Amino acid sequence: MTCNIVISTGAGISAESGVRTYRDRGGLWQKYDPDVVSHINGWRKNPQAVLDFKNELRRDFEAGNYQPNAAHHALTRLQREWRWGEVTIITQNIDGLHEAAGSTVLEMHGSGRKKMCEACGHVSAYDADIILADPCAKCGKTASTRPMVVWFGEMPMYLDIIEQKLDECGIFAAIGSSNHVMPASLFAGASGTKATYLFNIELPIVGADDYHHHRLGPATVEVPKWVDELLALEEEPPSQRLW
Ligand code: NAD
Repeated sequence: MTCNIVISTGAGISAESGVRTYRDRGGLWQKYDPDVVSHINGWRKNPQAVLDFKNELRRDFEAGNYQPNAAHHALTRLQREWRWGEVTIITQNIDGLHEAAGSTVLEMHGSGRKKMCEACGHVSAYDADIILADPCAKCGKTASTRPMVVWFGEMPMYLDIIEQKLDECGIFAAIGSSNHVMPASLFAGASGTKATYLFNIELPIVGADDYHHHRLGPATVEVPKWVDELLALEEEPPSQRLW
């Protein structure tokens, strides 16, 4: 027997690293309209507005010099030290903080630190503003380089692998997500286990009932505590799978 763990993280896990969330008070959606700046149709209609937003975020990110926090580090520890199976970390975040903490992670919404050319697929570091008129370094096409992130209206990445991992897991946890964005909001229900944990600073407005255990409080406190509990287990936890 094995007990695999799947963990899905959202913007809340990075809040205490100083990265702004989207839907909380002071979040980015109070300043920007997601349909304009974070939707594939917005990119088709007004790419400059999208780039203004993304370039501002990128500069903010560079200046903020955000670092992984105790919750990111705890998950890395769990991934390295869990004896009873594998630990898969999936994130909706594009901030690269799981990777910076040393985790292996499926970035289902892409990476805010990379850009790509829609014409030839060339991927490179997003380490300076994207200018529409600049040609792609590989194919020379202009107005085709975009942040390598998944916008509303586009398909998230790694869905086949994620489906398989959810199907095989004995423990599922969602950390710091408002449960508003599909398909991540459906993962708890799809996981097929009764050992589902919700970590959030407060009960989210939607989806809380999909979880068997609620751990409310800052991610930097609750996640390391949970990881300590898991790593202290002397026997493999009994299966709570539903099928
Ligand atoms: P969201 O902004 O909709 O929700 C964030 C959730 O985190 C809220 O429910 C809030 O209560 C909770 N939270 C805030 N501070 C917390 C803390 N200290 N500890 C625990 N929980 C805390 O984020 P979402 O559900 O991830 O969906 C938004 C979309 O925007 C996703 O695609 C996400 O990847 C993207 N996004 C990414 C980043 C990032 O890369 N860091 C930042 C903002 C938004």
